Amino acid sequence: MKNFTQAEIRHIEDVYQDLLKDLRGKFDEGRIDRIERAFRFSNAAHDGIKRKSGEPFIIHPIAVARIVAVDLGLGATSIVSALLHDVVEDTEYRLSDIENMFGERVARIVDGLTKLSGDFDSRHALTLKKMLMTLSDDVRVILIKIADRLHNMRTLDSMKPHQKIKIAGETLFLYVPLAHRLGLHAIKSELEELSFKHKHPEEYEQIHLMLHNQEQKRNYLVNQFIKPIEEKLKQEYFECTVSHRLKTSFSIWRKMQKKSVTFSEIYDILAIRIIIKSKPNISEKRQCFDVLSIVTDIYKPKPDRIRDWITTPKANGYESLHVTVMGPEGHWVEVQIRTDRMDDIAEHGFAAHYRYKDIRTFENELDPWIEQIRELLQANDSDAFEFLDDFKLNLYATEINVFTPKGDMISLPQGSTVIDFAYEIHTDVGNKCIGAKINMKLVPLSHVLQNGDQVEILTSENQVPKPEWLKFTVTAKARGKIKNFFKLEKNKHIELGKQTIEEAFLVEKEPLTSNNLKKLIAHYNLNNKEQLYSEVGMGFIELKDVKKIIGVKSESKLVKYWNITFGGGNKKKADEEESGEKIDRKKTFVLKENQDNITFSLAKCCNPIPGDPVVGYLGSDDHATIHKIGCPELAKFLANQGDKIVKAEWTKFKRQSYLTRLNLEGFDRLGIVNEVTNVISKGHNINMRSVKFDTHDGIFKGDLFLYIHSADDLQQLIARLKTIKGIENITRVENLDE
Ligand code: MN
Repeated sequence: MKNFTQAEIRHIEDVYQDLLKDLRGKFDEGRIDRIERAFRFSNAAHDGIKRKSGEPFIIHPIAVARIVAVDLGLGATSIVSALLHDVVEDTEYRLSDIENMFGERVARIVDGLTKLSGDFDSRHALTLKKMLMTLSDDVRVILIKIADRLHNMRTLDSMKPHQKIKIAGETLFLYVPLAHRLGLHAIKSELEELSFKHKHPEEYEQIHLMLHNQEQKRNYLVNQFIKPIEEKLKQEYFECTVSHRLKTSFSIWRKMQKKSVTFSEIYDILAIRIIIKSKPNISEKRQCFDVLSIVTDIYKPKPDRIRDWITTPKANGYESLHVTVMGPEGHWVEVQIRTDRMDDIAEHGFAAHYRYKDIRTFENELDPWIEQIRELLQANDSDAFEFLDDFKLNLYATEINVFTPKGDMISLPQGSTVIDFAYEIHTDVGNKCIGAKINMKLVPLSHVLQNGDQVEILTSENQVPKPEWLKFTVTAKARGKIKNFFKLEKNKHIELGKQTIEEAFLVEKEPLTSNNLKKLIAHYNLNNKEQLYSEVGMGFIELKDVKKIIGVKSESKLVKYWNITFGGGNKKKADEEESGEKIDRKKTFVLKENQDNITFSLAKCCNPIPGDPVVGYLGSDDHATIHKIGCPELAKFLANQGDKIVKAEWTKFKRQSYLTRLNLEGFDRLGIVNEVTNVISKGHNINMRSVKFDTHDGIFKGDLFLYIHSADDLQQLIARLKTIKGIENITRVENLDE
C-alpha cells in the first residue's frame, strides 16, 4: 500500500473490519481466512485507484461484499467473488491469476461479472441477453451484479447529471425487474427509489414533502385503525407486530403518472401489516386465516378482495394473505397478514430461502423459469430490444397453473390465453391452433385462462399465425414464435415484391433507378424501399401505371427534406467529418432527399407527422428511424444507446399526408356526429380514412383515422373540433392499430 495516505489506509481498514464484524460467527475460520485473502489481494490490486467521489476504489468492492453477505445472505464463495469482482476489469491481473489463487468456482463467477461490466456501454439489451445466459449457469453472478448496481446507485451523487440519468434509467429498465423476479423486494424498492431520486429530483422532493406533511394525521388514523385489532389479537393470545407500510415515493409517482391523479387522490398510500410470531404445532396457514377472521370481524372486507398467496405462493416465492377492508374514515385499507418467516421471504426473497434451508425448493421453482429463458435465448434471433420487451412481460407476471388433458401442469403468466398455452406445448401446435376446449366448453384463441383450467387445444392443418394474435399473447415464448413466423414471411414478401417491381420496370422498359423507386414510394405514401417491396409482395399494391408515376416531374413530387445535425451524437461520423474536408460543425448539416447517405423511416410506435418535435435513431447502414420526442420507445434508446440518437428536424413537407388517429369523447346529443364530420370534411388538407362513433349511456366516443399533412393542420383541426358543443376531450392516439 504505497499510493494512499495514512488516513486513507486507516479508512479502508475500518470499513473492512466492519464487514468482518458482520461475518464473524456466521463463517468458520477457514472461510474467514479465504475472505481475508481476497480482501488483501483486491486491496493491493486496486492500490492508489480512486472512485469519482475521491474515495479509494476498494471501498466499493467491500461495500458490495457486505450487501452480498448481509442483505442477500450468500456464502463465502460469493463474498470472495464480490471482493474480487472488479479486479480483472480494472487492474493488470488476469482471470488465470484469480483461478490460481482462489479456485475455479470463484474465477467463473468473476468471469461472468467481468463480461457483464461496462456500465457506460451502449449495448445494454445485449448485456441483458448475456446476463440471462449467465443466470442460467450460476444465479450468484446475477445476485452479485445486483449488489454491485445497488452500491453504484447509492453512490451516484458524484456522477455528472447526464450519467446519473442514464444509469438510473438503466437500473429501472434492467435491474429492477430482475430484482423483482428474484424476490428481492427490499433491494428492488431501494433501486426504484434511488433511480427516481436521480431521474426526477424535483418530483422526488415534492412527494417526500407531501408524505412528511401528512405524517401526523396519518399516524393518528393508523393508530385508530390498529387499536381494536391489537386488543383482539392479544385476547386471542397471538404474538404479533402490527405495523404500517407506506407506498414508496416511486410507486406513488408511478401511480400518479399512470392514472393521471394527484397525490391527494391516491388512497392506498398506506397498508397495514400484521406479522405473526408463529406458534409451533399449528400450521402457519391456519394461524394467518385465524388472524384474517379477527380482522374481518372488526372491519368489513371488500368482497372478492381476499388474496391468498399462502396456498399458492407467487412465482418469486412471496407468501402472504391480503385483504382490503373498510376503515373508520370510509377509506379502503389493505391489510397484509403473514408469519415472520413469510415476511423475511417477502423482504429478502432468494436470500431468505437460503436461510430457511429451503434453497432446493426455491431452485426448483426457479428452474422452470430459467429453463424458459434458456429456450427463449435459443429460439429468439429477433433483435435484442424486442426480446427485452417480451422478456420483461414475463418478469412481472404472477403465475397461474393450468392442465393438459392428460393432467400435466403447465405454469403460465397471469392473463395468458389459449394461444400462449398452445405455443407452450409446441411451436407447431401454436402455429396451427384454432381454438380450445376448456373444461369441455369450446373457447376462442383469445380466451384468457384461469387457474386450474384443463385445456385441450384444437388445431387445423390450414391454420397459419395471424398478426392480431400478438394482441392477446402474453408469454415471451409465444410472442417470439409468432414474430419469427412473420419475419420469415416478411422476407419472402420482400423478395417477391422486389422481383415484381424489377419485372414491371423491365416490361415498361424503364430504368430501375433509385430516383424512380422514390417516386413510387412517394406515390403510394410509403416511407422506404423495404415497405414498398413488402406491400407489393403481399399484393396490397398492384403495380399499375408505373410509367405514369415515374413520369411525374420530380420537383412536384418533392416530398421530404431533412436537416440532420450530428449534435454530439455519433462519434464516428464526427471524426470522419474532421478528417475529411473541412465542415463547419456548428452549421446545420443538411441532408436532402436525393443525397443518399441517410435514409429514414417514421417510427411505427409514435407515428410522427411533420411539425412534431422529432429525433432520429441511427441504426445500421445510416438508416434513421424518426421518433417523436417523448415517445416511450425512444426513451428506451435514450437510456441505452444515447450515442445513436441524432437530431432531426422537418424542413419542407409537401404532398405527403400521414395517417393520424384521434379519439373524441363527450356527451351525446342529436347531430353531434354530423357536426364532427362536417368540421373534418371542411378542413383543408384533411382526408378521412375511417371514422367510428359509439354512444353508451349518454357518453359519446369517436375513433377517427385521418390523413393529415402537418402538426399545424392537426392543431387547427383539434381547435375547431373543440368548439363543438358536447365535445369534452380530444386526444391524439399514437398507436394506429385498430
Ligand atoms: Mn463494481
